[in-house]
Amino acid sequence: FKVPTPVNEPILDYAPGSPERDELQKTYAEMTAETIEIPLIIGGKEIKTGNLADCVMPHDHQKVIARYHQADASHVAQAIEAAAEAWKTWSEMPWQERAAVFIKAAELLAGPYRQILNASTMMSQGKTCFQAEIDAACELIDFLRFNVEYMTDIYKEQPMVSPAPTWNRSEHRALEGFVFAITPFNFTAICANLCASPAMMGNVVLWKPSDTAVYSGYHIMKLWHEAGLPAGVINFIPGPPQEIGAAALKHPDLAGIHFTGSTKTFQYLWKSVAENIENYKSYPRLVGETGGKDFVFAHESADVPSLAAALVRGAFEYSGQKCSAASRAYIPTNIWPEVKKRVGEMTAQITMGDVGDFSNFIGAVIDQRSFDKCAAFIAHAREAADAEIAFGGETAGDKGFFVQPTVIETTNPHYKSMCEEIFGPILTVYPYDPAKLDETLDLCDQTSPYALTGAIFGRDRGDLVMMADRLKHAAGNFYINDKPTGAVVGQQPFGGGRASGTNDKAGSKLNLLKWTSARSIKENF
Ligand code: GLU
Repeated sequence: FKVPTPVNEPILDYAPGSPERDELQKTYAEMTAETIEIPLIIGGKEIKTGNLADCVMPHDHQKVIARYHQADASHVAQAIEAAAEAWKTWSEMPWQERAAVFIKAAELLAGPYRQILNASTMMSQGKTCFQAEIDAACELIDFLRFNVEYMTDIYKEQPMVSPAPTWNRSEHRALEGFVFAITPFNFTAICANLCASPAMMGNVVLWKPSDTAVYSGYHIMKLWHEAGLPAGVINFIPGPPQEIGAAALKHPDLAGIHFTGSTKTFQYLWKSVAENIENYKSYPRLVGETGGKDFVFAHESADVPSLAAALVRGAFEYSGQKCSAASRAYIPTNIWPEVKKRVGEMTAQITMGDVGDFSNFIGAVIDQRSFDKCAAFIAHAREAADAEIAFGGETAGDKGFFVQPTVIETTNPHYKSMCEEIFGPILTVYPYDPAKLDETLDLCDQTSPYALTGAIFGRDRGDLVMMADRLKHAAGNFYINDKPTGAVVGQQPFGGGRASGTNDKAGSKLNLLKWTSARSIKENF
């Protein structure tokens, strides 16, 4: 059995008049014209609990695109039962057959599902067409195709030595129990992959999506179904996180948690697991990607136009709601005036509004909470003696949760927005004295507890090497002369350390190995 060699899915450009643009516009118009009802999906059955909540569009929060049924503890129990039933056949199914489901899902997504998932990601998570395309289409297709390749390697790997008359073998078993996938709003590809990668390895999954991405989550469930995923392998249970979490985390069959979200929530999950540790059948595998306070650090030899472009794109694409977004920058004082001028010019050109209008560069932030948080950081900078708003700073929440791309300039490397994660379109810049490169590198390394992504800019190779070395543990995805966002599956496996997660790289063999438990077999002849 040879799986097709994976290649990265080409990004379509949606130029005016292109067939993909026409199709996406049509799909978007059709989907926004309806308000759908979203059930739970447990054991392949649609379940309506009657406890309804709304899905709205971030750029038009009066517009209800769906009403979804919310699960409670009793549905979690049902989902665990359905998963256990599915486990009996799914975990025993030859891995090639499981792989086939995900290869087919990738093909469906490259074809008829592409615009459905793109449109739903634009509608529910407020992505622009380009941001949806690189996430819901390309990254998800890549996750599926590359993970199938990595899984093939895992199953093929066997012990090196079998002295006669023995035969040594490795058997990669599914975990005994269920994997609890708790997924974020900001990447449709991540949501799908947090379920798909354990499922590929023969596991069954309880999926609690973010309440701000239930809409696209439901369409992912349709994709799995159409690709032939058996009932009960992935069970969809949106609803109140505390109640769902408490019921799933106490269950003896909890075999793993696959998480992307806030550092606080991940820490809560570890604590809950610790509290229940005596009750589990096996030690649950905990895999998480959490917060970030990602940096751009420039050397005085940096190329100014590419640095400025990286700051603007890294900080403001998808309104800074990527875990990888550039949110603090260290720029030498001798190049800052020129960098600032370019950043200001580019920021002024950013168009913000309804993502259904394809000419907008950004939409709104995800919800009221995020909007309020951004507004509070902006208000703080207006008042602070050691910071000022260099660009932007306007907000408008009446129709959508709009936050203007904002640059804060500070003289204090420990200023609030240099240290705390915001998850919005706010970049804080600390211009530093180039004679103090050394101590500024220490500041960059030490002022945040996170270590997800980071970028350095410069031409001087000696200093670049030194900087990369000094920031060795400050980022799990490190960029030299590029923005810190936009990791590509199969090229830069993604994940960070410190408070940013367990660094089990999304889209890698390392990640898949978490979802299998090997049996070493020795046979004597
Ligand atoms: N992988 C994405 C990137 O490199 C970020 C993922 C995230 O936001 O969790 O931009």
